[in-house]
Amino acid sequence: MAISNKALEFNSKETIEKEQFCLLQEELDYISKRSPFYRNVLRKIKIKPADIKSMHDLSSLPLTKKEQLQKHNWGFSCVDKKAIADIVSTTGTTGAPVFIVLTKKDLGRLARNEVYSFLCAGATDNDTFHLAVTIDNLFLAGIAYYMGIIELGASVYRAGMHNIKRQILLLKQLKPTGIMTVPSFLLQIGKGIREKKINPMSLSVKKALLVGESIRDQDFSLSGIGELLYKTWPLDLYSTFGNSETAISYCECQYKQGAHEHSDLIITEIIDENGKAMPDGESGELVLTTLQTQGMPLLRYCTGDITFKITERCACGRGSVRIGPILGRKSQMLKYKGTKVYPKAIESAIARVKGVGNYVIEAFTGDDFSDKIVVKVGCKKKRDSLRQALCTDIEAHARVTPIVKLVSVHEVDVLQSDNGKNRKLKTFIDHRTIKTK
Ligand SMILES: [Zn+2]
Repeated sequence: MAISNKALEFNSKETIEKEQFCLLQEELDYISKRSPFYRNVLRKIKIKPADIKSMHDLSSLPLTKKEQLQKHNWGFSCVDKKAIADIVSTTGTTGAPVFIVLTKKDLGRLARNEVYSFLCAGATDNDTFHLAVTIDNLFLAGIAYYMGIIELGASVYRAGMHNIKRQILLLKQLKPTGIMTVPSFLLQIGKGIREKKINPMSLSVKKALLVGESIRDQDFSLSGIGELLYKTWPLDLYSTFGNSETAISYCECQYKQGAHEHSDLIITEIIDENGKAMPDGESGELVLTTLQTQGMPLLRYCTGDITFKITERCACGRGSVRIGPILGRKSQMLKYKGTKVYPKAIESAIARVKGVGNYVIEAFTGDDFSDKIVVKVGCKKKRDSLRQALCTDIEAHARVTPIVKLVSVHEVDVLQSDNGKNRKLKTFIDHRTIKTK
């Protein structure tokens, strides 16, 4: 295996920054020649790649917003049709879907990124992975993991994300050492194993790499779903974060104090609403600049995800920037009596309470123009002790006191699916007429 602990991320902060700056210059030179969108933008603001003389100048480059990518999608492409190897798409939950083109070289970058991530999680070429993620429907994550595992020299089989019985059968028959999936699906498999009166720890799986939902709270302790998962199936859990637009992922190492940036492939920034860089540990929007990308490089792409960064060297020896758990989406920020809160924190608290069937968090604009939060919890028995437990847990973990209403599971079902219209169930519904800042 050629990719090892000689990767850039094991160097000092200074060496990483120096190398990233060289790669940034290459990227700027490339997009100013090849990307119709960026050529136009850079010409308008009269910035030439040569004007960027150090990493400090990165902040003088324009931010790229998702709306721009949606509006000028193909203007971001730096290659002609013949060079495109794969086309992926974001889900389009917020507005029009975006298509991202990847060349053969980009697919190599994608695989390399995942090798770095799997190495972070302690995977070796002796591992066999049960891959329970979606690999079709223009999704990026599935093929990224698949190619990464193969590039690492480990083994993989594509179990997909359906049929719990078959998942369990495959776990018994093929004896994987690791599983790669989303937390809620792993929980379903774990519950299925328990229902069969099998001790999950008697199976060969030792670790799980989890994507899509955060299994940690802001202080890196397990979130509500993380705790539930660990109680059901106490595996060595690793949280990963992926971004489709920049074809990148971050992964925790064995110390589980933030997910590592793979520094030769991406530059990480955290900014506030005015574009100012946030100091370590303070939350803001995650902004990414791709490196070594050929098809659709992105400059300071605003992901809409809220997290924080840690720049001190990790105990694992990596000097690369780490990012904290994703705290929420920028557009979903709620302000409750001066406290900023994201629905995710409330969700994490709800997951800790027994007796909850399903739930939906609704936000309204209150009479005083502040945000009003209503949590509707679907349950079989509407006991006041359940309502009290929910209030206490939400207050303790999310530091807000929303209105908690116990309703029927059916009522929540209807709200989550907008009366059957949405296939993707919503756990947060925003009715606000004014968005807080
Ligand atoms: Zn580390």
